[in-house]
Amino acid sequence: MSDGISKRALPDDIDLPATIVLYVILIILGVDRAEERQRGQYDVATEEEGLLSDYMDDMSSGSDSDYAKYWIDWFLETKGNEYYCEIDEEYILDRFNLTGLNVEVQQYYAEALDMITDNLEEERFDEKARDQIERAARHLYGLIHARFVITTRGLAKMLDKYKKAEFGRCPRVLCNLQPLLPVGLSDVPVTKTVKLYCPRCEDIYNPKSSRHASIDGAYFGTSFPHMLFQAHPNYMPTKSTDRYEPRIFGFKIHQIAEQHRWQDRAREEYLKKANEKKEQNATDLV
Ligand SMILES: [Zn+2]
Repeated sequence: MSDGISKRALPDDIDLPATIVLYVILIILGVDRAEERQRGQYDVATEEEGLLSDYMDDMSSGSDSDYAKYWIDWFLETKGNEYYCEIDEEYILDRFNLTGLNVEVQQYYAEALDMITDNLEEERFDEKARDQIERAARHLYGLIHARFVITTRGLAKMLDKYKKAEFGRCPRVLCNLQPLLPVGLSDVPVTKTVKLYCPRCEDIYNPKSSRHASIDGAYFGTSFPHMLFQAHPNYMPTKSTDRYEPRIFGFKIHQIAEQHRWQDRAREEYLKKANEKKEQNATDLV
């Protein structure tokens, strides 16, 4: 109900029906305001409730509140795990794909696998054991990830992330914000952390965030970015031939360096000649 309506409803000379209408309007406005006040209080209350629940979420993040979720979803949503793609469940459940990984994860291998596939009966373990299983599960996920990302399905999933530049962009100015791909410098776990490969300048960079910089490079492997462009050659950018040329006041550095070298040579020759002259004079005197 706006003020405009109430003003239009006011008659010039007061008659009974108009007065009744006016009263009705005033009552409705009054009720509206009271409702607004109530709503206002409610809004404040719900906002506080929201903040409180946010706070509670913060307090309990990474523990009980995540139990209802699938482990892989929880893992992928955890801050710092943005580089990983979701490994298909069928891939994990096919034991053939995991051949040899039990050697890499010696303790709690079966439990870690159960945790990843949400089949672990967590009540059977105390907190310390659960922590160790969790750590083993993260490591195992990384190792399976390295195998999965070079499969057709894995390459397609990682290509989607590359198209969205989820691994960041090349910091080199002449690469014009080229999206990067994660790459390992070793396929042996716990050797080197993950690096980012730029297909335009063909160089590698350290991830910006320390969370990403501490990820094991073996969870992506040394071949992954190159396999991706083998499978999807049309996503390979044109190679960068642009090079930055260092200049001082507009002159290329090597030109200046050449000039300096010429000056040095000239000075040396002058000194040599001067010395020879001195020696000549000395012998002449004798
Ligand atoms: Zn680059």
